[in-house]
Amino acid sequence: MQYREMTGGDKVSVLGFGCMRFQTNKDGSIKEDKASKQLLYAINNGVNYLDTAKIYHGGRSEPFVGKFLEENKLRDKVYIATKLSHWLLGEKKSMDMHFKEQLKDLRTDYIDYYLVHSLDGKSWAKLKELGVLKFLDKIRKQKKIRNVGFSFHGNIEHYYQIVDDYDWSFCQIQFNILDTDYQAGMKGYLYAVKKGLSVISMEPLRGGRLAQMPPDEVKKIYAGSGLKRTPAEWALRWVWNYQGIATLLSGMNQMKQIKENIRISNTALPGSMTREELQIIEKVTKVYKKLMKINCTGCMYCLPCPYNVAIPACFEYYNGYHLYNDEKYKNYYKNFLGDKAKASLCVNCGKCVPKCPQGLKIPELLKKVVKEFEGVN
Ligand code: SF4
Ligand code: SF4
Repeated sequence: MQYREMTGGDKVSVLGFGCMRFQTNKDGSIKEDKASKQLLYAINNGVNYLDTAKIYHGGRSEPFVGKFLEENKLRDKVYIATKLSHWLLGEKKSMDMHFKEQLKDLRTDYIDYYLVHSLDGKSWAKLKELGVLKFLDKIRKQKKIRNVGFSFHGNIEHYYQIVDDYDWSFCQIQFNILDTDYQAGMKGYLYAVKKGLSVISMEPLRGGRLAQMPPDEVKKIYAGSGLKRTPAEWALRWVWNYQGIATLLSGMNQMKQIKENIRISNTALPGSMTREELQIIEKVTKVYKKLMKINCTGCMYCLPCPYNVAIPACFEYYNGYHLYNDEKYKNYYKNFLGDKAKASLCVNCGKCVPKCPQGLKIPELLKKVVKEFEGVN
C-alpha cells in the first residue's frame, strides 16, 4: 500500500474505505459478518482510512464501524473520518448532541478527520449563523477532533468562499474523470492545493458506474490503448495521478473489488500516467458525457420518497438504457420496480430535491423516465 502525507502529518493509505455501501439485508441492516471480513482484509493489507457519516446506511454505519473497531482492537490502527450531517440538526438536536452521539456510536474519544458534511453556499451560510465555526474551534481545542475539513457539493464560487472562511486542513470533493468541470472540479482541486489543504476524492468511480462494463464506444477506446486494464483501473489511476489527492474513497463491498483496488493502488504513483494514457481518458470522458443522461451517483440521499419512488433505481435503468442502447433496462424497470416504486408515482412534492448532492431536478427527470419507460407524457 502507498501512503500520502496529509497536511497535519498523518500518512494515510491512498485507498480509503468508504463505509456507505456495505452489503445489506432485506431490512436495510448491514451484513455485518461480510462487511467485517472485508474491512479486516483491507486493514490487514494497509488501508488505514475509514470514512463514515451519521446518515450512512440509515444511521447504521457509525455504530457498525465502532463495534467492528472495538471488537478487533483496531481503533489505534486506523484514522476515522466522519461528518457533521447538518441537515439532521434542529430544535431537538444541537451540534454538541450530534457529535456526542457520534463518539458514542464509534466507541471512541476522538475523531481523526471531522468534516462538515455536503456543503454548498446556502448550507454554509446557515451553519455559520448557527455557530459552526465556534463549535469546530471548541471540539478541536478539546482534542476531540484532530483535523477539520468539509465535503462539498455546490458551485465553485461558494467553494472558494468556504475554503477561505476557515482554517481547514483538508477538503473532500467529487473528483473523477467525469467531474472535472462539475461542482468544485479541477479548479477546486487546484485551489485547495494552492491553499495547503489535503484533498480527498469522493466518488472516484461515480458511485461505481465507471467500474461497470463500459458502453461499446468506450470499450473500443480502452482496447485501442493496448493495455490490459479494467475500466475501474483506468479511472482510479487517473485520480491517483494527481499528487495533491491524499486518498480516494471507494465504497467497496465485494472482496474481489477490494483486492483489485489494493492491487492497483500499489503501482498508481502520482504523475505515472503517460500523455497517451491521459488522451485515452479524455476520449472516454467525452463518450460518457454524451451518453449519460442523468448525473445520478446512486448515493440514495434522496430516499425515502414518501410516495415510494425508487429514485436511484429509476435513474440507473434509464442511464443503462441510454449508455448501452439496450432494451433489457426497460424490462428491469418493469420487473423490479413494478407499480410499487415506478417513476410515475412521483407527485412532485419536492421533498427529495434539497437532499440531492448532485443538485438534480429529480421530479423533472422522473418525468423523462415516465415518458420513455412508461409511455406516458
Ligand atoms: S418529488 Fe417525487 S420523487 Fe421526490 S420525494 Fe416527492 S414524490 Fe418522491
Ligand atoms: S438522485 Fe441525487 S440523491 Fe438520489 S441517488 Fe441520485 S445523486 Fe443521490
